Amino acid sequence: CKVLVSGANGYIAIWVVRTLLEKGYSVRGTIRSEEKAAHLRELFSSYGDKHEVVVIEDIAKEGAFDEAVKGVDAIEHTASPFHMNADDPDELINPAVNGTVGILKSALKYGQSVKRIVVTSSGAAILRDTTTPCTFSELDWNEQCLEIVREKGRDAPNMMKYRASKTLAEKAAWEFWNKNKANVGWDLAVVNPPFVFGPAIQAIATPSTLGTSATLFYNHVALPNSNGATNEFLASVGTAYIDVRDLAEAHVLSLEKEAAGGERIIVSAGLWKWQDFIDVANTISPPPKLATGGLPKGNPGAGTGHPSTVHLLHYDTTKAARILGLKYRTMAETTRDTLADYEAKGW
Ligand code: NDP
Repeated sequence: CKVLVSGANGYIAIWVVRTLLEKGYSVRGTIRSEEKAAHLRELFSSYGDKHEVVVIEDIAKEGAFDEAVKGVDAIEHTASPFHMNADDPDELINPAVNGTVGILKSALKYGQSVKRIVVTSSGAAILRDTTTPCTFSELDWNEQCLEIVREKGRDAPNMMKYRASKTLAEKAAWEFWNKNKANVGWDLAVVNPPFVFGPAIQAIATPSTLGTSATLFYNHVALPNSNGATNEFLASVGTAYIDVRDLAEAHVLSLEKEAAGGERIIVSAGLWKWQDFIDVANTISPPPKLATGGLPKGNPGAGTGHPSTVHLLHYDTTKAARILGLKYRTMAETTRDTLADYEAKGW
């Protein structure tokens, strides 16, 4: 069984590749340039020709995936820009939407052996900012970010531009599938994760290049001054998260479970505030030996569970439990393993 994974060098995708290989699948990963192949080839060298890497320079180009989809049984589409420094929202929206529709189009034309396509969407395509606590489910769509980006364009907050790219890409995926489902031998499943934390196995030189979510974790949980964040910030900022390894498992289960076809699925391990991770980090024995000089303290106990702490965003995760049967690592495991990863990297 061969699986195509787009953006294979990414923080999440490389764990998807690893999980697939560990479970006996063959993997063809796509990357943007040849120099990104070396790390993947080395990391997965023991899998021999079960692991293959192909270069697709521009995923938004018409027919970009035409060759790559040939002969694969399933696709995990994770490649999509995830950064907060786009000026024009289209810098994010175009590759997100065209990359997603493009891979589906290629599968329609040349993916005769494809049975399931899993697209990595996001909680960003579901949630909206609220002032009162709200529980979101797979029935919700983030129309708020689309309105803001439509109204403000380049002046929209960067987070809204990113959310719009994810919402529009997921909408385009469902639209494409609904239009073409009678003519294809595959079905679509979508995974909607919140913030992703956990150890990093992609090629990275410094904490600042860990990736958008993982760098935030490093800054707030591994730097003794939490990168200048106030105690109030640490106790009040945070939403929902999943460990990157559990998310990789969710991607594989979404390929395997028949009932995942036609579904968008929220996967979330639970709620967090930075203070929660900091408190857990300070219980690790022996303490991690970080080159940062030590862990932050913040205001212990001021996070989740404190009477004044409010979580506005909640996710209904019953579908993931029912269809995927996904088990989540605990916050203690995620924190311990992430800090051990920094220690191993000499950070
Ligand atoms: P990374 O930045 O580590 O990985 C993104 C991958 O997409 C990389 O392989 C990157 O290639 C590729 N990519 C980005 N922009 C383009 C582009 N314009 N053309 C071609 N390829 C591109 O991010 P993550 O692993 O964190 O994210 C992976 C997916 O998960 C994304 O779809 C993201 O939206 C989604 N997600 C992430 C969350 C998180 O907290 N991390 C939460 C929810 C969803 P290159 O390395 O060459 O830039």
